Amino acid sequence: MNVKLNTEPLESWIDTGGKPLIIAGPCSAETEEQYLQTAREIAKEGYAHVLRAGVWKPRTRPGSFEGVGEPALPWLQQAKKETGMKTAIEVATPEHIELALKYDVDILWLGARTTVNPFNVQALADALKGVDVPVLIKNPINPDLALWVGAFERIAGAGITKLGAIHRGFSNAQETKYRNSPMWQIAVEFKSIFPNIPMIGDPSHIAGKRSLLAEITQRSMDLNYDGLIIESHRNPDEAWSDASQQLTPAALGEMLKGIDFRNATY
Ligand code: PEP
Ligand code: MN
Repeated sequence: MNVKLNTEPLESWIDTGGKPLIIAGPCSAETEEQYLQTAREIAKEGYAHVLRAGVWKPRTRPGSFEGVGEPALPWLQQAKKETGMKTAIEVATPEHIELALKYDVDILWLGARTTVNPFNVQALADALKGVDVPVLIKNPINPDLALWVGAFERIAGAGITKLGAIHRGFSNAQETKYRNSPMWQIAVEFKSIFPNIPMIGDPSHIAGKRSLLAEITQRSMDLNYDGLIIESHRNPDEAWSDASQQLTPAALGEMLKGIDFRNATY
């Protein structure tokens, strides 16, 4: 099955100088100080093209930090102004899309808990009609390739042409080495269906812990992924979400230096 979607190549919507795309930033924007300092340190390191942040956090259980919401969006505008980098956030409702666009967020992504729900994806697709913004779609939390494919068909059906896939792994019923099993074969099959859609590895959410990040990053590059989205926090141990998998901007730089990107270096 090779499904034809109207897509634009990655290099036409973001200039990475031919290198893999690097998206870095905290799991969550927590405070203005935390977000801006992290953004400044990432910019100083020089490897990233895009700053990520979770502004609305889809937590599995209530009672954990659910994101700052709209008040965090001016921090992203400020980071963009200071660093010249693009910004990317997760959107899960039509209202999130409206606010993201109002505050000039450059790239939107659908999280794994959104891709899993066709009603939810369709509501986002409807909100994106007539909008020209890049949209990245994470794999669904469960290993169901068709849901991932369907989400692309819905978002592309709304007229979005700047599309990318994020491979963040799949949830496990039992404890495994990984927080989310990579099941690399599913991403390979995705590529055979949508050869023109760039694949971005998310080692942070596959690993769940710092010690596995390099190995997963290397594997993604060996599979010719087009980029990476990696969580980075100025003080990872104090992070309000996903503390055990985040790296400082400097440690992320060190990690990337140890990866064989073939013809690119960071
Ligand atoms: C995230 O990127 O912080 C996140 C919530 O990821 P996922 O949707 O992959 O769980
Ligand atoms: Mn996270």
